[in-house]
Amino acid sequence: MMKHVLGAKCVRCGGEYPALPDTTTCPRCGGMLDIVYDYSAIAKEVNHKVMRDRQEQSMWRYLEYLPVEGLGKRPRLRVGWSPFYRSERLAGELGLQHLYIKDDGVNPTASLKDRASAMAVVKAEEAGANTIACSSTGNAASSLAGNAAAAGFPTYIFVPSRAPKGKVSQLMIFGAHVISVQGSYEDTFRLSQQAIEQYGWYNRNAAINPYLMEGKKTVALEIAEQLHWRMTDYVALSVGDGCTIAGVWKGFKDLYATGMIDRLPRLISVQAEGCCPLNRAIQTGEPWQPMEENTLADSIAVGVPRNADKALNAIRESNGIPVNVSDQEILDAAKLLGRTSGVFGEPAGVTGTAGVKKAVELGLIPSDASVVSIVTGNGLKDTPNAIKAAGEPVSIPPEMDALLDVMEKL
Ligand SMILES: *Cc1c(COP(=O)(O)O)cnc(C)c1O
Ligand SMILES: [Zn+2]
Repeated sequence: MMKHVLGAKCVRCGGEYPALPDTTTCPRCGGMLDIVYDYSAIAKEVNHKVMRDRQEQSMWRYLEYLPVEGLGKRPRLRVGWSPFYRSERLAGELGLQHLYIKDDGVNPTASLKDRASAMAVVKAEEAGANTIACSSTGNAASSLAGNAAAAGFPTYIFVPSRAPKGKVSQLMIFGAHVISVQGSYEDTFRLSQQAIEQYGWYNRNAAINPYLMEGKKTVALEIAEQLHWRMTDYVALSVGDGCTIAGVWKGFKDLYATGMIDRLPRLISVQAEGCCPLNRAIQTGEPWQPMEENTLADSIAVGVPRNADKALNAIRESNGIPVNVSDQEILDAAKLLGRTSGVFGEPAGVTGTAGVKKAVELGLIPSDASVVSIVTGNGLKDTPNAIKAAGEPVSIPPEMDALLDVMEKL
């Protein structure tokens, strides 16, 4: 709650500012701001027993850790408190003893981005805004469109023209004003920034808005609670712009600072080989450089990551492990996860799992490690790539003879 927020601090120059509902980036240097909390005040109100008795089954279960006055008056979707599974079959296939899946693809608009968009909608109401806008590779857009539709906010949404049909269809169904931009994500982002400035819309760009990461961190709070506050050794997830991994790390650090967990996991930062500017910076020790957006995992095809400072801090502070995977490894992970666990992820959704598999194979993590793999988006958003991963079914005429012919192939 806002009474626990001390202010907003620039991650680049250290400048400190009040945390206002429409606060964006550092006025002095343009760096991203980080919301700062009074952890001893939170720790006075929250403990394991308080959480055990709490009824709320959504991301707002952790109100003490969130930068909001309250939840506003507008209706909202039920975001968060997503399923958490122990998958012994997947663990066996990966050669691991303890593997858990956090399925964030079951959120209302079917991705982890709902956590950020739900936060954006509450902050837009606090800011007295009339309209919300963003640019996105797809899921930030569809989650904003859905969460804003529930709350009655009009939205303007800029997507690169390569965004998959499943995501664009969500935007259209949720009644967003959609602008499909013939260019890269970077081009799309730049245009949206110009338009937002010109029209004065509330800005739901993770590159700008410091509250979105606070929404995303709730996935880490849930994971810790679903593990009964006994953290695993590793948490693996896919990384594009870097806001999610930064949020996940913030969530675990918040819990650690308030005595809710007694150790921090190491993060496994998984990017696509064809677009891995953040992991490359970690691996080379050089500043990050833009890369081409060369992967079928559209949600993490971000050549110019806007949350680079925060994401690199998160990976370094957690003593994290960068792992890059090929598109084929991503498709294989989609099939493996589906077949062994019944969880259907979009390519970027299963990239974390692909990274776990590769990290075990390369000996980067030991086989007795405990790992959580976050599935960040649902596979129904991108069925062409799912078919690419798993193939087409056999097709026969409606006759028993024909069935007998193909039975041994099934
Ligand atoms: C946005 C997204 C990511 C990556 O999050 P970043 O904050 O861009 O790093 C991963 N998976 C899915 C499905 C996403 O939509
Ligand atoms: Zn600054």
